[in-house]
Amino acid sequence: MSSTTTSTVSPKRLEGRGIRHVFDGGKSSVPAIEGIDIEARPGEFLSILGPSGCGKSTLLYILAGFIAPTEGQVLLQNEVAGPPGPERGIVFQDFVLFPWMSVVDNVAYGLREQGVRKAERTEIALRYLQMVGLESSAQSFPKELSGGMKQRVAIARTLATDPAVLLMDEPFGALDALTRSILQDQLSDVWTSTKKTVVFVTHSVEEAIFLSDRIYVMSKRPSTVREIVNVELPRPRTRESMLQDPAYGSLHEHVRGLLMDSPGS
Ligand code: ADP
Ligand code: MG
Repeated sequence: MSSTTTSTVSPKRLEGRGIRHVFDGGKSSVPAIEGIDIEARPGEFLSILGPSGCGKSTLLYILAGFIAPTEGQVLLQNEVAGPPGPERGIVFQDFVLFPWMSVVDNVAYGLREQGVRKAERTEIALRYLQMVGLESSAQSFPKELSGGMKQRVAIARTLATDPAVLLMDEPFGALDALTRSILQDQLSDVWTSTKKTVVFVTHSVEEAIFLSDRIYVMSKRPSTVREIVNVELPRPRTRESMLQDPAYGSLHEHVRGLLMDSPGS
């Protein structure tokens, strides 16, 4: 994989202040998020970790601007963030690609929307495909790719528009264990070379620790922040070095404990 730095936009701070959200279904309203303050510092890798159904996706979509919270504010570099835009790039769990477009056209899509001319957007798209190790599949179509490859295309597509913050909703949740660990390594490298602010949603303790600078551990729904955990393991991390580090064992146990005795469980 290439470690070329292609990013030009500076990473930005993304904050949610006093976020509360209730899904209003008439009589059956669902309180999803109960008073969360969250801050992703410029250039840091931040994870949101919590049990299934606790409101992680809801919080991420609020941070992305797709859902307007019942209460609270989202700030991008200290200014109220408006509707979703290219500054906040998002990668979803289920490999969302346009089936009628080739891989390179999928990656270039956001650039086309931004009015970048064809030759230039193809060149940029190929550069990001190279970054995720897929330049040889540029002319393939999504249906010819495995799940892991599709997700690498989706990541390249989001990175191609050079967002100031990269938001990821359990991007590896639907992959087998081996592919998942390969993509974690690759994402870690991509983050190192692009220096983007990343907000990464997961319910895997191992994944959160391996990737993150800090982890927001959430309670069960309606979710609150149980604890903000600093991951002070040295970088670059490999799975082997991490497992051999005694600090990993105690950190893992601590974070797992926070999830296990989450109030309501
Ligand atoms: P997570 O991503 O942590 O698994 P979600 O954010 O998807 O959790 O959902 C949090 C809670 O909100 C769940 O109980 C879910 O069923 C509920 N929920 C999510 N989206 C909606 C919606 N559009 N309408 C009503 N309830 C919803
Ligand atoms: Mg979710």
